[in-house]
Amino acid sequence: MESDFDILIIKRIKLDDGMEILEFTLDQLTCKFRQEFGKGLFHASALSREIFKFGNRNFFDANEFTTSPVFAKQLKNKIKLTPGKVIETFKENNLTKFITLLSDGERIESVIIPMTNHQTLCVSSQVGCKMGCRFCETGRMGFKRNLQVAEITGQLFNARFTLKENIKNIVFMGMGEPLDNLNHVVQAIRVMNEQRGFDIALRHITLSTAGLIGGIEKLGSLNMSGLRLAVSINAPDDKIRSWLMPVNKTAPLQRLKRALEMFPLPKRGCFLFEYILIKGLNDSPKDAIHLSEYIKPLPVRLNLIPCNPVNGFNYESPCDDDMNRFADVLTDKGIFVIKRWSKGRSVAAGCGQLGRKC
Ligand code: SF4
Repeated sequence: MESDFDILIIKRIKLDDGMEILEFTLDQLTCKFRQEFGKGLFHASALSREIFKFGNRNFFDANEFTTSPVFAKQLKNKIKLTPGKVIETFKENNLTKFITLLSDGERIESVIIPMTNHQTLCVSSQVGCKMGCRFCETGRMGFKRNLQVAEITGQLFNARFTLKENIKNIVFMGMGEPLDNLNHVVQAIRVMNEQRGFDIALRHITLSTAGLIGGIEKLGSLNMSGLRLAVSINAPDDKIRSWLMPVNKTAPLQRLKRALEMFPLPKRGCFLFEYILIKGLNDSPKDAIHLSEYIKPLPVRLNLIPCNPVNGFNYESPCDDDMNRFADVLTDKGIFVIKRWSKGRSVAAGCGQLGRKC
């Protein structure tokens, strides 16, 4: 039976009269090859290998196609490979921000973050965002449109094969709210996860949400065990959170907590909570105690991130001592805390800065 995602792919094929290769898992590609050309796994695997493993845009050079020239010609007229064009890169030490120009002229930003032995790619899921978080430049842009599946996987294609980076982890923490573009994001994750393709394990993919409850419930029902869920919390109570993140007015903290309690985590799995520390707003020891009370029953690793400069948001990040004091209160309460000192500020690639002019 066809899943939601297969139907989505088939609809797009009918619309565009072309197969955007970056939208397909190997199974889906094999199925299309059978339906449309009477071919199967042999050729689908070859195409998948050339594109997703080698980034070979001249995929018809592969043996499997040179020995089937008629089929290769048919395919040539059907297949599209359009990851978007990387038009600008910005560097801060080993961190790279890149801008992709999409086919309709819109631009999105992605960030390659250096880790010890590999790189993490932070991808965008929308052009702009509806959520309007005050500390976020993308939120200030407003919403333009959802990204298509290939525009999401295209960021990984370009990071690996255009910029030649060794990407092993993906975080959906770029422009947009991924759960607000759930079908396309889930299909993109399936393509990124395809073992005979990009081959990124689900446990190395993190989807970060501002807390869309319906999206969390739907994601929980999709049997994507291992996929990591991050939640942008940023406040110890509803009053501060609703001011900072308008989504909290419809999805307040207790409802969010109930949705998380129902979310199927893998054995010994946990949520990642992100807390942007803002001087004088959410960084007092009392705030830390309230936050610990909220978190305590949930399995959570908490990332503390000092806020970055954002146009129109007249707050500062706390000093190191205040950040340490806040972390110590939480640690004393048994919360696992990681302090993240901001990377990428000088190229506007830090948390909340995508969309800001460098
Ligand atoms: S923080 Fe995320 S959800 Fe909030 S406005 Fe920015 S991109 Fe959207």
